[in-house]
Amino acid sequence: MSAKHLVEKLKALSVAHEAIAGTQDLVKQHQEAMKRKELAVKMIDEQITKLDLEFKQAQKNIDAFEMELASIQEEESKLQKTLKSLKKQKECAALEKELSLFARKRYDTERALETACNGIAQLKSFTQTEKTRLQKEQQTLKQELQSCCVDEKNLKQKLSTVEHAWSDALHEVPTEWQSKYARMLNSVTNPIVPVNNSVCGACFYTIVEKDLQRIKLGEIVTCRSCYRFLYSTDHVAQLDAPAKQASY
Ligand SMILES: [Zn+2]
Repeated sequence: MSAKHLVEKLKALSVAHEAIAGTQDLVKQHQEAMKRKELAVKMIDEQITKLDLEFKQAQKNIDAFEMELASIQEEESKLQKTLKSLKKQKECAALEKELSLFARKRYDTERALETACNGIAQLKSFTQTEKTRLQKEQQTLKQELQSCCVDEKNLKQKLSTVEHAWSDALHEVPTEWQSKYARMLNSVTNPIVPVNNSVCGACFYTIVEKDLQRIKLGEIVTCRSCYRFLYSTDHVAQLDAPAKQASY
């Protein structure tokens, strides 16, 4: 295989690898976004449940006041009947005093009930508005979630395609370069980079003159700083010389 072809094959491998990494990132981003949306949907459910509970509690408070009022009224009625049957003034006075205490209690309970009824009317209106708003928000989130699911499925298909492209590109590269490339991939995502203005295209290390000459002659040389494989774009465009061994 000529140097030009080797560089092209390695570059194709690099491009395929970057496509895999990019697609994996996108899949991950989608999955994280989906998790956030699922959590938001769940939180809205909890908010709606909380609103319903608050309303139920307010209704229970009203029921309790109504029961208390009915009990006071019943007691008052009994005492009124007793009062009518009493003859002695002292007994009547004591009962009237008791009745006045009940009347006070009834008045307080009626006011508390009135306040609770006004409160629940406001709460009902607020709960309905808030629930409508939350349900709408939840609906939008569910639609977005559905769209995210479709996107994720498409991205996974794309990932499978780029993984196949990578595998194909790998088989195009001579075996010895496959293992060199695979070793580099353990530490960097772009094992092969061009030389730009006499510096490494990845780490910007200045290439020594001796190496520059070899790169110009068509060799793929290893960067002395980051160990990536370096090639000359000029050389690729112009030469079609046999590939030479990388030097370490
Ligand atoms: Zn470098």
